Amino acid sequence: MSALLDPKRPVADLKELRALTGDENGAQRVAFTPMWVKTRAWLKQKLSGLPVETHTDAAGNFWATMRGESEKCLLIGGHMDSVPNGGWLDGCLNVIAGVEILRRLNAQYKGKPPVTVRLVDWADEEGARFGKSLFGSSACSGNLDMDEARGLVDKQGIKLPDALKNVGIDFERVKDSGKELHNADAYLELHIEQGPVLLDLDLPLGAVLGTFGVERHAITFHGQAAHSGSTPMNRRMDAFLAAAKMSPECYKIAERSGQGVCTIGSCTTKPGIVTSVVEECRITLDQRHLDAEKLSEMLYDAKAASERFAREGNVRVTWERLWQIAPRPFDDELIALCDESIRETHSKSHRLPSGPLHDAAEVAASGVPTVMMFVQSLHGISHNKIEDTKEEHLELCVTAFDKLAEKTMKWIQKRER
Ligand SMILES: [Zn+2]
Repeated sequence: MSALLDPKRPVADLKELRALTGDENGAQRVAFTPMWVKTRAWLKQKLSGLPVETHTDAAGNFWATMRGESEKCLLIGGHMDSVPNGGWLDGCLNVIAGVEILRRLNAQYKGKPPVTVRLVDWADEEGARFGKSLFGSSACSGNLDMDEARGLVDKQGIKLPDALKNVGIDFERVKDSGKELHNADAYLELHIEQGPVLLDLDLPLGAVLGTFGVERHAITFHGQAAHSGSTPMNRRMDAFLAAAKMSPECYKIAERSGQGVCTIGSCTTKPGIVTSVVEECRITLDQRHLDAEKLSEMLYDAKAASERFAREGNVRVTWERLWQIAPRPFDDELIALCDESIRETHSKSHRLPSGPLHDAAEVAASGVPTVMMFVQSLHGISHNKIEDTKEEHLELCVTAFDKLAEKTMKWIQKRER
């Protein structure tokens, strides 16, 4: 099998794509733009020598299907779109590794693998233009909020439905994409980690346990404005003092939770002048955990702490939920296969949750058994032109991901629906 797979070929493809769709500021493959259309054409051309049927679904997701001995179906996915000034690997590594797997399957099984294998390039994973991530995959999973999406507008004032019309997509029909998942028995996605965990462990590859659930709230402390000179310290109702105590508390809450994270990302004060005690202080809190129960504990603890700090400071506190999403755990058996593939390729695997959301989270939510594999990110950074991964690690991830695809095909064959 190893002779049929050429892990250097996808690396060369990635470099070719970078030259074609990037500039001195990074990748410029923003969804539904002319560059994105050009990227799709490039992808089609890469697939042209293979016995695959291709089509674009109702949500603009691009599918390449290699019919197998069975109608049971393995899906491999990623996204060719990027943020403006993005990195050269985020999203497209997944798809291009998938192309290499199709080449290997074609060579090994003479174009007819044991199960049907479908490669999908999800439309607008990044949400860079309309501020809404996972467009194509959430339309496919059925989770897309149509009323919200209908009203989305880009910086030029163009509405999402009009931008879609320009690339031949009828917004009102995007959920018809859901039929693509009817025969899906498993979904695999390779991705750069985008964080520093594997880098710090000095490991190239990891098996992903699922994507974090998120609780996002605005917390406002209400005190009283008072003159900064005439108000003794013991008479103040200082909204900022109470809000500020939340910061070290959040580190304690995250630590108690195990693998959770908490971020106070913004802080605004009123009246916001140098000569007044703060009357009102609004902070935003973003909490994430893979375990739903731990996530709700983190939220409970933050609420209890905010009330305690409000009482101590003689101020009031109110909470407003901004957004939430449940954790999306991946399939235990597929996680085990992913671990095994990594161990057979390299010596050691590591299991880790994903902080960022991915298309895989949408597929998992639709009930298709799902797993992701992460490859180490240098600098632990992405959505930036400095995003990078060692070439030897890119080759390793293609090899390990291909093994995972093969193991998953066997797993699908054995499994009752
Ligand atoms: Zn991505």
